Amino acid sequence: MNNKRQILIVDDEPDIGSFIRDVAIDIGFKATAIHQPNNFEQLYSSDFDIIILDLMMPERDGIELLRFMATQDATAKIILISGYDSSVLHSAQKLASEQGLNVIQTLTKPILYEDLETLLSNLQFSLNGDSKEARKSLHLATTQELQNAFNQDELQVYFQPKLSFSSGKLVGAEALIRWNHPEYGLLLPGIIMPLVEQAELMEALTSEVLQQSFQQASEWLKDGLNIKIAVNMDSCSFRDLNLPEWVEEQIRKYHLHSGQIAFEVTETTLMQELVKSLDILTRLRMKEVALSIDDFGTGYSSLSQLYRIPFSEMKIDQSFVMHATTDAEALAIVKMSILLGHELGMTVVAEGIETQETWNLLSDMGCDVAQGYLIANPMPANELTEWIIKQGHIDYLELTTMP
Ligand code: C2E
Ligand code: MG
Ligand code: MG
Repeated sequence: MNNKRQILIVDDEPDIGSFIRDVAIDIGFKATAIHQPNNFEQLYSSDFDIIILDLMMPERDGIELLRFMATQDATAKIILISGYDSSVLHSAQKLASEQGLNVIQTLTKPILYEDLETLLSNLQFSLNGDSKEARKSLHLATTQELQNAFNQDELQVYFQPKLSFSSGKLVGAEALIRWNHPEYGLLLPGIIMPLVEQAELMEALTSEVLQQSFQQASEWLKDGLNIKIAVNMDSCSFRDLNLPEWVEEQIRKYHLHSGQIAFEVTETTLMQELVKSLDILTRLRMKEVALSIDDFGTGYSSLSQLYRIPFSEMKIDQSFVMHATTDAEALAIVKMSILLGHELGMTVVAEGIETQETWNLLSDMGCDVAQGYLIANPMPANELTEWIIKQGHIDYLELTTMP
């Protein structure tokens, strides 16, 4: 195909430039990387759909190149990267949009492969929204296929266990959506969620995940397993003031214990309709539904959210947890988050525990609950049941079955 979308990458570190270029090419872009910003003006043309720009370069910094693009009335989508702290990135982003440029994303170094891949895949998808070819090469399903998936039972909730650091015992599981696509196989939320949003099917998805979770919790309970299930909730879930009553009704209908259901919400989710969400969340807490602030530390107004919303649990974002053993700043954030969570009476969960070293570190810092690949990947409910038995968590679960 000659009509590939084009990306220009400007980074003075050749390794980073070629890393990004290779990922972009794999995804189906035509990509060029340069490491000498002085060549930028000659190379620049409006044919580039995306420009990925490092802010910190010795000869000419990214801000100067942005200024040049503004004089050209550039319409390309711009992604800024930097090893600076995110406040520098944010102000650069603001500066660029003041000049009429379209900065769509900022990335902090080190750039994670998965983050880059998700970002570029989503961009490829949005740029080539109607191209069947692009979708196929990216394993991206159509919204029509998603509609059908609901009727064909292709959407399946997987569960990832969470363990107590102190006892090593199971304390619950997070419900995570998966799509068994007839052609592409198992699809993950990175692909599913943008499609759900595009098809405006978020409410349907949430209700599907809730139904499967309630159903599963009740089946486990019948087998003597009291497993607390955490469901991720999107902002649209907090538009209906009757949600707390509906949840209460479901808990009764499925004969669940109160406290067996938890909701995980992100800060950005809550910003959208604060008063309504506050009303709903407060009443959910009054009905003993656990509320967890997800991806803690990545949003914008973490502290004021914690002050306003009655969270019972804090989940420290995996980007900090994973780097805590090697990066002093990540470590400081994790440490302070644990202190803060405890000070506010919350259970603190660390997501993204991938190594024993990270487990030990977080455990020593007094973190309460661990979730991550070191323990287990998300899996279908029947596999989790087998895992629980094999790992010997069953005794504890039987003990907690009685209210
Ligand atoms: P999340 O709520 O922060 O979920 C944790 C994500 O981290 C999951 O990705 C999980 O598979 C992954 N994970 C767990 N342990 C590790 C680890 O040790 N290392 C690494 N690298 N990753 C780990 P997943 O399943 O791809 O879900 C991604 C996101 O999609 C979730 O992030 C959540 O925001 C969203 N999501 C998933 N299912 C649903 C859903 O049913 N409804 C809504 N609204 N959002 C969902
Ligand atoms: Mg979550
Ligand atoms: Mg998370």
